[in-house]
Amino acid sequence: MTVTRFAPSPTGFIHVGNLRTALMNYLIARKAGGEFILRIDDTDPERSEEKYVDAIKEDLEWLGLTWDRVERQSERLDRYADAADKLREIGRFYEVFETPTELDLKRKKQLNMKKPPVYDRAGLSLSEAEKDALREERGGYWRFKLDHERIEWNDQIIGDISIDAASVSDPVLIRADGQVLYTIASVVDDTDMGVTNVVRGADHVTNTATQIQIMQALGFEAPAFAHHSLLTGPQGEALSKRLGTLALRDLREAGIEPMALLSHMARLGSSDPAELCRDMAELVEGFEIGNFGTAPTKFDVADLTPLTAKYLHGFAYSDISEDIFDAGVPADKAEAFWNVVGENIDTRKDLATWWELMSKGAEPVIDDEDADFVREALAMLPDGPHDGDTWGTWTAAVKEATGRKGRGLFMPLRKALTGMQHGPDMSALLPLLQVIKAKA
Ligand code: GLU
Repeated sequence: MTVTRFAPSPTGFIHVGNLRTALMNYLIARKAGGEFILRIDDTDPERSEEKYVDAIKEDLEWLGLTWDRVERQSERLDRYADAADKLREIGRFYEVFETPTELDLKRKKQLNMKKPPVYDRAGLSLSEAEKDALREERGGYWRFKLDHERIEWNDQIIGDISIDAASVSDPVLIRADGQVLYTIASVVDDTDMGVTNVVRGADHVTNTATQIQIMQALGFEAPAFAHHSLLTGPQGEALSKRLGTLALRDLREAGIEPMALLSHMARLGSSDPAELCRDMAELVEGFEIGNFGTAPTKFDVADLTPLTAKYLHGFAYSDISEDIFDAGVPADKAEAFWNVVGENIDTRKDLATWWELMSKGAEPVIDDEDADFVREALAMLPDGPHDGDTWGTWTAAVKEATGRKGRGLFMPLRKALTGMQHGPDMSALLPLLQVIKAKA
């Protein structure tokens, strides 16, 4: 069975970058009729917070990316300790003692000598007595000893990839305070949970190389890997610093529709044409991981609003009537309201804005040169209720009386009644205007 997982660390809100990872893993599982696990990578007790676990779930639920089960790394520490013991037993784990400053110094020296800044394995040549003394003095931590050979895999996005293990530092798997690090925890989880496909960002490629060797050392079989390109801003600029402002909850707050966001993210950076899907089944159907490219993928948050609008414009009244009631529109006017504003909303929030305009009246916009004309015209507008013919009859009479026609006739009246230059068909809108401030 195909099993995938989305494995966020609960150290912040998830953003569009995380969403890409979550969505790809979700779609692979659903397309194969498999299982999608939400794995909370919370081995770091200082940085992990429960409020972020809740927020991650809330954001995924909003999008409809439902998981089959939740796993938490903090509940599996004994499994990681077992794996660490095994690596120790087979001589692939060694204790090291360098402080971050010492490591930094080593790296600088290597770079000065034009050598790659790879950990020099000094820990391996320490005697037991030296280790005892250092452990006493500053505490030790543990690195995995890579086999210096090429690590190869067929990546579902990148293709055949080969990394020279000698160019990679032996990864630290356990910190001085005993905290198990993600690199080993993830290997143990992926194996225990039967994960068959791992999709994650291209920033994890080196991790993958080391994890493949850890898996081999533990006698585990590696899953299939796919590393998607990282998102950049619209001009190709790094997005990492701005991701904080692209949290999923901010997009939700801005009125972006889940299906617009998911449709966009499911095709961005792939050779498949961008298309707006109406539901998850359509999204699943058209998804092909192999069609994604390796080039950095441009993301422009501004693209999400027209897509949201397009998605909403496809709604029938019955799809959105609840939201219309919630916006305060009385049931007897709700369908007419939707017929009038449906094509003019960008987000669902605009429903309330439109109803406010209709029920409380818009602030009139009247240019100086139109003031007399508008006053004269409004004096001719019969008191309500208005119907679908009122606008036509009224403007014909105004035309007759004032000699104005075309844009010069209609635009000042639209602006006086709605405060806007654009908007719905005025003959349909007028019957819904409960208050006309310009007339008052
Ligand atoms: N917690 C890791 C991260 O958020 C998971 C990476 C992975 O998918 O293995 O980067």
